[in-house]
Amino acid sequence: MCGIVGYIGNKKASPILINGLLRLEYRGYDSAGIATIENNKIKIMKNKGRVNNLYQLEGINELVGTIGIAHTRWATHGKPSKENSHPHIDNSNSFAVVHNGIIENYHELKKFLTEKGYKFVSDTDTEVIPNLINYYFDQDKLNDDKKVLRAVKNTCNSLKGSYALEILSIYNKNKMIVARKDSPLVIGKGDGENYISSDIPAILSYTKDFYLLDDNEIVELSRNEVKFYNRDLQEIQKPIKSIEWGALSAEKDGYEDFMLKEIYEQPRAIRETVGAKLDNGSIEIEGLELSKEYLKNINKIYIVACGTAMYAGIVAKTVFEKLCKIPVEVDIASEFRYRDPLIDENTLSIYISQSGETADTIAALKLAKLKGAKTLVISNVIGSSITREADYSIYTHAGPEIAVASTKAYTSQVVLLNILGMYFAEKLEIIDKGTIKKLKEDILKLPSQIEEVLKGTDQINEFAKKVYKEKDMFFLGRGTDYAVSLEGSLKLKEISYIHSESYASGELKHGPIALIENDVTVIATMTNPDLVEKSMSNVQEVVTRGAKVFVITSENIKNDGITRNNKNSKNK
Ligand code: GLU
Repeated sequence: MCGIVGYIGNKKASPILINGLLRLEYRGYDSAGIATIENNKIKIMKNKGRVNNLYQLEGINELVGTIGIAHTRWATHGKPSKENSHPHIDNSNSFAVVHNGIIENYHELKKFLTEKGYKFVSDTDTEVIPNLINYYFDQDKLNDDKKVLRAVKNTCNSLKGSYALEILSIYNKNKMIVARKDSPLVIGKGDGENYISSDIPAILSYTKDFYLLDDNEIVELSRNEVKFYNRDLQEIQKPIKSIEWGALSAEKDGYEDFMLKEIYEQPRAIRETVGAKLDNGSIEIEGLELSKEYLKNINKIYIVACGTAMYAGIVAKTVFEKLCKIPVEVDIASEFRYRDPLIDENTLSIYISQSGETADTIAALKLAKLKGAKTLVISNVIGSSITREADYSIYTHAGPEIAVASTKAYTSQVVLLNILGMYFAEKLEIIDKGTIKKLKEDILKLPSQIEEVLKGTDQINEFAKKVYKEKDMFFLGRGTDYAVSLEGSLKLKEISYIHSESYASGELKHGPIALIENDVTVIATMTNPDLVEKSMSNVQEVVTRGAKVFVITSENIKNDGITRNNKNSKNK
């Protein structure tokens, strides 16, 4: 995730671009950069850190070009650094590119281009794009005014993954090309000028008229014209939309708050986290190289984290033990670090931290390292402190989280941990091919299934309206449903200030059932067909004591008993 802005018109581009970047900082802020064309040359300025660091660069105000592209980055490939910041330029200094997204086949493309003599100066996936444009441009023997456009089209058709692109070229000094697939991009139409941005709010102060791009569309912009093409370069027409949002709701993309916005970002976050990991024969996770020999000798996996990340770890315990047959312990980082845990060189220790800056988790990792254990980090921030300490770092690609309570980062962590468990099991050769295939298919279906769930939230709203004034609530679940309930209970406390407890369903009878009385709300999660009957008998126990039960279950669980006994049931 990152922010992209572009401008083509009669005004000096740089202040407009910087202003847009400042509004897009919520999408990424590890580095920022800008490119314009002046005196037939592409001029690039970039810097590590927030947009302010770019703005303070000497000479930034002297950029006088009236066409420009800009980027604020949230690294996915290569640490945050000046070299890795966008815009990237090709070897002939003819094409500058900013990119939001992930190029899944960049290794392959980099190899292809390296064999053709191209050199690379960054660790990014993006840098293949300007060079590939240059390659196709050179290959094309036709010298007409569509030559750059054709090179961009051929490049887009060679890319796998997600992208929103802005491209400047010295061969087309008064035009800009943009393209998108699975990453957002809008065009704002002005009078004798056009704006480009990752979202509407960043340029809403300049125009209210927008073209919303769809996947696989390529656009050529000049000051006065916007021409749309499909992936075969046939011209297409697009309607213009007038946006009447106020500035505040625009910042939140029309959602009431950032948390809701981020809940709706989950399908994209998960799609990007899964990336190309499951595309080939065996699972590949960039940055991870663990041999079968090493995995066979592991005596224990420790998962250490805080809060939500620790609850993601509890889901992983169930998954790892089932798939890999290795004992797993999950611990709270602030406990682990002070209690002399039993770990040695045959322990694999895994640390989960969205920000990569969680002090207790970093300290826990350092301790395990001292004891000789291998350390593997799961983080959402490339180059964060914890990733610099670890033997291996793998990443969720949820983009920055603005809301205080974690949503998309948690679900991305759970998905990545599942893939990690499958990776171990595959390496250990203790899982049959059919099971792995089915698991991969299930994970690939997840984003669209979440989209489906998010379409039908009326029942949840109704339920929330009924219970929001309550003082206590209980969450029940078994297995992974229990792990998810722990996170649900934490979220409720954090967001609604309602006290809540989460119990493994079978544990309820050992004491806490005394707290279940008339009209207490219980949220029971039962998505595992093998455990549904057991969970139903726990629901019966609380119903008998007068509780109101809200059931979360799966569509494929056709157990009449769930819905018959509870009018508040909600299928997911
Ligand atoms: N994959 C690109 C990079 O790591 C773009 C990341 C982004 O969307 O900010 O540079």
